[in-house]
Amino acid sequence: MKTDTDLTRIVESVKAVLPYQQNIGLHEPCFQGNEWKYLKECIDTGWVSSVGKFVDQFELKLADFTGVKKAIAVANGTVALHLCLKVIETEPDDEILVPALTFVATANAVSHCGAVCHFADSEEHTLGIDPIRLDKYLQKIAILKNGSCYNKTTGRRIKAVLPMHTFGHSVDLDALVEVCNTYKLMLVEDAAESLGSYYKGRHTGNHGVVSALSFNGNKIITTGGGGAVMTNDERLGRLAKHLSTTAKVPHDWAFYHDMVGYNYRMPNINAALGCAQLEQMAIFIKRKRALADLYAKALKDIHGVTFFTEPRFSKSNYWLNVILLQNTDIELRNRLITMFRGNGLMVRPAWTLINKLPMYKDCPSMELPVAEKIEASLVNLPSSAGLLSV
Ligand SMILES: *Cc1c(COP(=O)(O)O)cnc(C)c1O
Repeated sequence: MKTDTDLTRIVESVKAVLPYQQNIGLHEPCFQGNEWKYLKECIDTGWVSSVGKFVDQFELKLADFTGVKKAIAVANGTVALHLCLKVIETEPDDEILVPALTFVATANAVSHCGAVCHFADSEEHTLGIDPIRLDKYLQKIAILKNGSCYNKTTGRRIKAVLPMHTFGHSVDLDALVEVCNTYKLMLVEDAAESLGSYYKGRHTGNHGVVSALSFNGNKIITTGGGGAVMTNDERLGRLAKHLSTTAKVPHDWAFYHDMVGYNYRMPNINAALGCAQLEQMAIFIKRKRALADLYAKALKDIHGVTFFTEPRFSKSNYWLNVILLQNTDIELRNRLITMFRGNGLMVRPAWTLINKLPMYKDCPSMELPVAEKIEASLVNLPSSAGLLSV
């Protein structure tokens, strides 16, 4: 059992990295570019709502930055995930394999389709879905029929795997793609936390059939609220855009809709912020990686704690920096969090595992020992790009 003194050493080492000592947020937005200019242009021209040049520009710039063919800007990351699952034709009662260790939005998007979450465990060196153990698990519980995968226990079709790149660190995508090929599953990436993160040199969100980004206020870049669907498949890209714009068939004045669509588009005023933020991506990533380096050095010799560094195949954005306590002990973790907060530093634990939430407690699941361990030992440190000025 660790003593309070050890926890104090952790807190002091983290504080030594930071440029000031009080009221340090977890992840604050950084507006140092053309934000005012572009926002003013929206207001001056009256183009504030769901059409306008910044929406088109933002989509093109996103595609350019990530190397994915099509990006469709939408209202937030949750609806981006919902659209991803819709365009791959997720049906009510399908099962979707999702990590138990994720933000609730990943699971909610599955529920919004009437589909069922099926929880997968994480691996320690990525924090995301473990492809090897997933493969072993599917060998036991899955059966292929007419080119689709079925859960032998529940009889439901398993449609897709929806990995999440946790805190900006890529899952092992090649290995997951292989699992998807073996079991005829679609790969949908929740890249909400991994804009600017690369798997073997290729941007995250560029490996699955479709993927989702988020531009919430606490993400790498922000549009206030916002998200995007990304895909290399032109047809799916057009469908996502169509569904996000009430499925209105383009016409100068006639209102004709050919599907039950959604009002999920990103307003121009939000896209204006997004354009200004994207211009600063390189600087944000540079600063965030430099901050991670400083934390890693400061915590290297501190007993009982490990600073989490990127997996060997990932060049990570270090969205939220992670420390892991050696002891798997929620009570100890909570004492550390309380101590950090008492010192004016905003830190937080990982999410409560989704399978423990009341609406998801009866979903199918593999054993989750690693996710349990991470949940009990992880603390996120202050990670704003604005903390450093390199
Ligand atoms: C932020 C986030 C989302 C999307 O969140 P929104 O607030 O709807 O933009 C989805 N999944 C994960 C893992 C996230 O961190």
